[in-house]
Amino acid sequence: MQVAIASGKGGTGKTTLSVNLSYYLAREFTRDGQKVLLADLDVEEPNSGIFLNGDVTHKEIKYRLVPKWDESLCTLCKRCANICQYNALAFIGISVVIFPELCHSCYLCSDFCPENALPMVRHRMGELIKYKINDSFDFVESRLDIGVEQATPLIKESKKFIEKSKNQYKTIILDSPPGTSCPVIEAVKDVDLVILVTEPTPFGLYDLKLAVDTMRELNKKFAVVINKYGIGNNDIDNYCKDNDIQIIGKIPHMQTAASLYSGGKILIDKIPEIQKEISTIANNLQNIIIKS
Ligand code: SF4
Ligand code: SF4
Repeated sequence: MQVAIASGKGGTGKTTLSVNLSYYLAREFTRDGQKVLLADLDVEEPNSGIFLNGDVTHKEIKYRLVPKWDESLCTLCKRCANICQYNALAFIGISVVIFPELCHSCYLCSDFCPENALPMVRHRMGELIKYKINDSFDFVESRLDIGVEQATPLIKESKKFIEKSKNQYKTIILDSPPGTSCPVIEAVKDVDLVILVTEPTPFGLYDLKLAVDTMRELNKKFAVVINKYGIGNNDIDNYCKDNDIQIIGKIPHMQTAASLYSGGKILIDKIPEIQKEISTIANNLQNIIIKS
């Protein structure tokens, strides 16, 4: 079972749910060597690791391919000059200049060059680290290098890495990037279920509607968890009821949670009310997967 945890905007509690649910599933829903994997795919700002201590079991630099101008082969024909849709390549004076941070690795310029003067070469974009948290819980963190703007290629590479070992795991939880653009689509596109985390505020509802539209566009199975339940009104409950969307959990708003969160603590170890709700979410998850 692969589950992505996503939200229409940042700060709704996506990481809180990812970490606490993974920790709970690893503790309560595994036996006889079964394991849970949590992967932080919010690669621009991964922070699940703040709450987890473990031993590094694997580390690798991640690369993507960008063109490199080979001056010796170039005939200055200028065919490549206007072909890049992302302004990652320009003809300046008598040189072709590449801006790797803008490149989307689409190969167009490389394929289009009649002299093979734009070969695609490896360019570092970030790193991936895998940790063993305990015998039933592994954690993968992917992090973009400072200044690298394209999150999607690193998410794609991280998912390839996870794919290779997916049979080791009973459950894989993906802490996805926030929003509704390419990075989150890449993160959720082949999971069994997406959990959309929201909060009971007008902003929460607005962003939830965008996220729901995206999931429906992608034809993904999804359900909702309301975080900080109790701080606002019932608009999210009403919206979900009117639109036939299942709410699988309501994590109560508690002052103590904020201070424990800022101290990097796992909430289910400290707050019974939150543990109870995470347990409900875990059970609802199992039921959804069994039925599907
Ligand atoms: S298309 Fe190739 S040969 Fe022509 S200017 Fe660009 S790099 Fe040089
Ligand atoms: S590979 Fe694509 S995005 Fe990158 S410089 Fe060439 S045309 Fe532009």
